[in-house]
Amino acid sequence: MNLSEKYDHNNISNRDFDRSHLWHPYTSTFDPLPCYEVESAEGAIIRLADGRELIDGMSSWWSVIHGYSHPVLTEAAKRQIDRMSHVMFGGFTHEPAIELGRLLLSILPEGMKHIFYADSGSVATEVAMKMAVQAQNNPHRTDFATIRCGYHGDTWNAMSVCDPVTGMHGAFGDALPRRIFAPSPQCKFGDEWDPEDFSPMRRLLEENASTLAAVILEPIVQGAGGMRFYHPQYLRELRKECDRLGIILIFDEIATGFGRTGELFACLHAGVTPDIMLLGKAITGGFMTFAAVATTADIARRISESDAKCMMHGPTFMGNPLACAVAVASTNLLLNSDWKKRVKEIEAIMKERLAPAKDFPNVKEVRVLGAIGVLELHEGVNLREFQKRCVDMGVWIRPFGRLAYIYPPFMAISDDQLITLCEALLHLVDPANKTLE
Ligand SMILES: *Cc1c(COP(=O)(O)O)cnc(C)c1O
Repeated sequence: MNLSEKYDHNNISNRDFDRSHLWHPYTSTFDPLPCYEVESAEGAIIRLADGRELIDGMSSWWSVIHGYSHPVLTEAAKRQIDRMSHVMFGGFTHEPAIELGRLLLSILPEGMKHIFYADSGSVATEVAMKMAVQAQNNPHRTDFATIRCGYHGDTWNAMSVCDPVTGMHGAFGDALPRRIFAPSPQCKFGDEWDPEDFSPMRRLLEENASTLAAVILEPIVQGAGGMRFYHPQYLRELRKECDRLGIILIFDEIATGFGRTGELFACLHAGVTPDIMLLGKAITGGFMTFAAVATTADIARRISESDAKCMMHGPTFMGNPLACAVAVASTNLLLNSDWKKRVKEIEAIMKERLAPAKDFPNVKEVRVLGAIGVLELHEGVNLREFQKRCVDMGVWIRPFGRLAYIYPPFMAISDDQLITLCEALLHLVDPANKTLE
């Protein structure tokens, strides 16, 4: 870099520097969607650099369950920083990792016995898939099956099990390993179970059992691949079939864990325990990146008896003490609160307040489960226009594709704030207001 270039970088405004040089997710570097500079955030409020305040309806991609700058999480981080922010996990251990492990095993579905700490959700997915292959320890059983409309992250193998169309990775096409996809479950959460709903998956598993290491899917709620809520019986059928065929069952609870759906973990709606379970996003209350992969004793034993004799993954920041300490604080904060009652209340408010959208001609379906409220539209929204209108109305809602939804920080948001979010969403989507034309 020459001197004059450097000079330029210091002389353009923050906004222009950001636009010209910083990559933001899923937008062009040449004609990016607008970005709003955030000055600070507290509770359910995000404060912009220009002084405007937004009510948060996204929990910063579904992670910030207690709201922003929660004093208990901040205090836990400060306390840990004064001891050490990081130390390698190879050959060392530390109290935050141990305390978090004890805590997670005390709340995870019965049968979960071993925990692998990872750096992010996508890494957790990679770890889980590697675990499944190692546990099978069979050169023929290395493939994966999943359901359409799923999402499991942005890294290579995680991408391969995302929905090829709605899962955001279509650009990579044939570069990704080809996986086995069953249709997404059609029987909705709360509807009557139709045994036919599981037939396509049963057939696929039977046909491919000799090559499958595992099935991976999001239990009950499919998130970024479609915001769909499906029938718990699907998971019970899947558990039976996987057991029969020796296929490992992986539940990705990265988006659903820690109370979001009204149960601490979504698989509890079905009473089904997987062999491997992924946690992320809300594990630190959205304070910082972290994830965990839990397994049964059987999976851990099989990996330890495999050719490699151990799990072949060890990220630099594995078991980061700062993240562990915050995760302990966040999880205890949740467990010591009346989160279940609060999620129920939020569900009731969203059911009532979003219902009028059922009559909008551009709305295909309105659905609410726990602290997730979704309007599925017939057509995709113009994000640029939508986002600007949201900010003008003092709310933060960020749709993707045909899905406009509210995923609020459920332990921080007040009834009034939630109602404002719902009203703003209805106003923006209601064709009578012509706001999005
Ligand atoms: C967000 C998400 C991931 C990926 O997590 P990152 O932390 O973004 O890597 C994986 N699975 C599900 C279900 C998710 O919602």
